[in-house]
Amino acid sequence: MSDAAILVLNAGSSSLKFSLFPPGAGAQARIQGQIERIHDDPLFTVRGETSAKTVLGTGHRGHARCLDYLLGWLAPRARVIAAGHRVVHGGIHYDAPVRVDATVMERLRHLIPLAPLHQPHNLAAIDLLREMDPALPQVACFDTAFHATKLPPASIFALPREWAERGVRRYGFHGLSYEYVARTLAREQPRLAAGRVVVAHLGSGASMCALRGGRSLDSSMGFTAVDGLPMGTRCGTLDAGVVLFMIREQGLSPDEVELMLYNRSGLLGVSGLSNDMRTLAASADPRAAEAIELFVFRITQQLGALAAAMEGLDGLVFTAGIGENSPDIRARVLNKCAWLGFELDPVANQANAALVTTPTSPRPALVVPTNEELMIAIHTGEVVGRTAM
Ligand code: AMP
Repeated sequence: MSDAAILVLNAGSSSLKFSLFPPGAGAQARIQGQIERIHDDPLFTVRGETSAKTVLGTGHRGHARCLDYLLGWLAPRARVIAAGHRVVHGGIHYDAPVRVDATVMERLRHLIPLAPLHQPHNLAAIDLLREMDPALPQVACFDTAFHATKLPPASIFALPREWAERGVRRYGFHGLSYEYVARTLAREQPRLAAGRVVVAHLGSGASMCALRGGRSLDSSMGFTAVDGLPMGTRCGTLDAGVVLFMIREQGLSPDEVELMLYNRSGLLGVSGLSNDMRTLAASADPRAAEAIELFVFRITQQLGALAAAMEGLDGLVFTAGIGENSPDIRARVLNKCAWLGFELDPVANQANAALVTTPTSPRPALVVPTNEELMIAIHTGEVVGRTAM
């Protein structure tokens, strides 16, 4: 009999990322992998205790066939006892991970318009897995849940009260990443973790979070994950009047506005070249340079805003694809924020070291690699353990 394992799934529009964890908190993934290009020419890659790279062929196109392939591939290697899913939006109903049933799914489906890039694909994977293996316990882990500690005024808009009652609130996202970083800081930097820390999750999606004593006090994202910093293809904070202008004066439909704000803006929109920071960094095109400058400018603005929200700042943490791997972006941010007490250590920064400011810097800036999958595995184990008959 093969070993029991928790399967973690992060289903996107064109990829299905997966990890397999031994049950029990704090363990490393046995394997991690993904199926990319799932509507086109699916490519299966896996690394860990075994590695593989297989072109699945057009016969495996689509989420259902790819998931079916994955389960077949896993069957002789692990006895999957539960599946944990990254689900972007939990809305007002869920401020903690939850075991999925029909009622939960119904509520989560209502949130699809609030996270159109992610939510439909996250839920589709749960539906498919329920069809393929109805007895398998499944747990939804939300990017919003960690921010449930945000209180007014950080959690409300200046709209008439009834809108907050209808769920139009500033939720915040990337919560699984922030939760992982907060736990890591508590273990490795307990004094800093007890203080006021801004975490910058800079990936293709990007946001920042104000952590006080390890809890979310405020974040750059609000009602949806299109708010805050400019991202790979998302615009970030936008004067609401621009949306009205697009609809009334330019005749865009709501679907066209959604496409504009979520898929055509951000680094891609400003550069006209790419949503990928590596491509922009390697480009000599002045529009690429302007996109990067805007990204950095908005990060530094947000850092000031979050420090103000916490009435002070003790440290800064960089995480996710750009935050962990781009010395250039970190150096630009820290140099622009020298006034906040950050003294860059160029050598440590170039090496992506854990501490990228000098030992005598008034405030430290750290790099903490995130691990949202591990957070999902931990939550899934806990929820299934609690709800098991
Ligand atoms: P994520 O969504 O966390 O996987 O991050 C993806 C983003 O990280 C993309 O914009 C990548 O270009 C960026 N990224 C990854 N590695 C590097 C690097 N070495 N330098 C700059 N950006 C990077």
